Amino acid sequence: MIQRFYPPRRILMGPGPSDISPYVLQALSRPTIGHLDPLFIGMMDEVKTLLKYAFQTENEFTIPVSAPGSAGMEACFVNLLEPGDKVIVCRNGVFGERMRENAIRCGAQVVLVDDEWGQPVSVDKVQVAFEQNPDVKVLAFVHAETSTGALSDAQALAKVAKQFNALTIVDAVTSLGGVPLKVDEWGLDAVYSGSQKCLSCVPGLSPITFSPKAIERIQARTTPVQSWFLDQSLVLGYWNGGAKRSYHHTAPVNSLYALHESLLALHEEGLENAWQRHADMHQQLKVGLEALGFRFVVDEACRLPQLNSVYLPEGVDDGAVRASLLDNYNLEVGGGLGALAGKVWRIGLMGYSAKQENVALCLKALQQTLTQ
Ligand SMILES: *Cc1c(COP(=O)(O)O)cnc(C)c1O
Repeated sequence: MIQRFYPPRRILMGPGPSDISPYVLQALSRPTIGHLDPLFIGMMDEVKTLLKYAFQTENEFTIPVSAPGSAGMEACFVNLLEPGDKVIVCRNGVFGERMRENAIRCGAQVVLVDDEWGQPVSVDKVQVAFEQNPDVKVLAFVHAETSTGALSDAQALAKVAKQFNALTIVDAVTSLGGVPLKVDEWGLDAVYSGSQKCLSCVPGLSPITFSPKAIERIQARTTPVQSWFLDQSLVLGYWNGGAKRSYHHTAPVNSLYALHESLLALHEEGLENAWQRHADMHQQLKVGLEALGFRFVVDEACRLPQLNSVYLPEGVDDGAVRASLLDNYNLEVGGGLGALAGKVWRIGLMGYSAKQENVALCLKALQQTLTQ
């Protein structure tokens, strides 16, 4: 017999989803109202305002896509690229490779800039790629590579793109809310994120923001966007229509209550304070992990505080230890992806998960499990 599903209360210290605060879970269970209800429309407008704050932008087009971060990625590629367009894609982990796959499916010509896993994207290599391909229209890179824990210099990369009159597509899924991200100051054009990493909301929403230049590019397209659902020129009328909003799709009403609540919490804490909290928790975790003999994959200078990749100690069985952490401590940490599978753990300190009790629990659980 199939019974009702009651998940255990885990502590989520992997690459996402992160822990969700009780306030956000409560918001999720409030009564569902119509997605064209005037009260709901008012709340959607507040979500946009709060997202602009989180992204540090005045971009009018700043909305949550009703689908996970991967859909935000796809939305940026399918709207900005047309068949034959040249794009530089930077690849220093799993998500850079996914960007390449998206660009190819748009019929774009991809110029790859590869860096080793664990390294940030090389600004010098991107500069050279532009010099060799001055007709490139878009530069795409991952700000915070969750597969390795490396942070790239989004500001410097965007500056190179500007020199060559190219737009930028930036993956900020793991960076938003965890490390400084300044869309307007840095001149980023199409930026997407996810609800379930440092925003600590339920999975399934992808905040995106498009600069006026990105909107111009979309309006100047000569071919229709290949995806109907992700065609942002259609979505504009839905999110920007105000009281005259017309139906595009049914918004995930309750998930948006949750996003509103989590963005409000970020606003109340203050972005700078949230960035500092992530940095502080990383310092505490780092000291403890190094005392246990762990080595970090990424150099301190470009290491993400919210995603700590460490090499497994000699002779440790990856699967067995992580299963034991889950069974005995209700603690989830992430395994390695791709080239790092079986070699590293990814310990997340994202959003509501980035707190002292969690750092202490993680260190204690690791110490006890590894000495057994
Ligand atoms: C998690 C993640 C994604 C994908 O988000 P989903 O919500 O899982 O679709 C994309 N890019 C990066 C850097 C991520 O960490």
